[in-house]
Amino acid sequence: MKKIIIAIDGYSSSGKSTMARAIAARLGYRYIDSGAMYRAVTLFALRHGMIGADGSVDEAALTAALPEIAIDFRPMADGSQHTLLNGEDVEAQIRTMEVSSHVSAVAAIVPVRHKLVQLQQEFGREKGIVMDGRDIGTTVFPDAELKIYVNASAETRARRRYDELRAKGQDVSYDEVLANVRERDHIDSTRAESPLRRADDAIDLDNSAMTLDEQNAWLCERVRRITGEA
Ligand code: C5P
Repeated sequence: MKKIIIAIDGYSSSGKSTMARAIAARLGYRYIDSGAMYRAVTLFALRHGMIGADGSVDEAALTAALPEIAIDFRPMADGSQHTLLNGEDVEAQIRTMEVSSHVSAVAAIVPVRHKLVQLQQEFGREKGIVMDGRDIGTTVFPDAELKIYVNASAETRARRRYDELRAKGQDVSYDEVLANVRERDHIDSTRAESPLRRADDAIDLDNSAMTLDEQNAWLCERVRRITGEA
């Protein structure tokens, strides 16, 4: 069977990871959550005092520390993957509001992006990969066989994220989550280096009114048109 690269980009909490994970499991492909990699670098910066109380990031210190940061993923028995920062499982720590509030500033730093893009490209060398993020179809894999650009309203996305965080027992308000979603949208789409942008050859998907099953069926159909299977 022909192995391809599937790039899924879109704003935060657009449901892209859920569909990426589902199609990867179905095809037996590897799934890589590129946002988790930016979150892990943010956690490292927070732990090392490189982010000030005003939210400013010490770019010079973080850039100098980049060679000390190793990021990888560990496959779990239930089919999910946990993010590893220098060998430590940080899957829970990278999903907090604290990390969410600083990740877009960290992800705007050019040397951080260069390091992570290179690592992401290595993950995709053998194809048979589904990766989601902001710049996968434009910068990481401009030649990906299938590119999807997912969108949904900020309110729909904030509601999903809020439900997820509450289900994990985190004490957050809907307004706080909505403000964070809007702020990240703004930073992610206006930064100088690899901003979130729809690739010219991407297929649009607005999933605001779709169930997960509908979304997965839609994606399977797109894959089938390319590989003849799925
Ligand atoms: O996908 P997720 O919301 O977890 O991503 C967290 C943050 O990482 C995004 O808001 C964005 O700032 C950054 N990111 C990025 N490029 C990617 C993936 C994520 O800049 N490919």
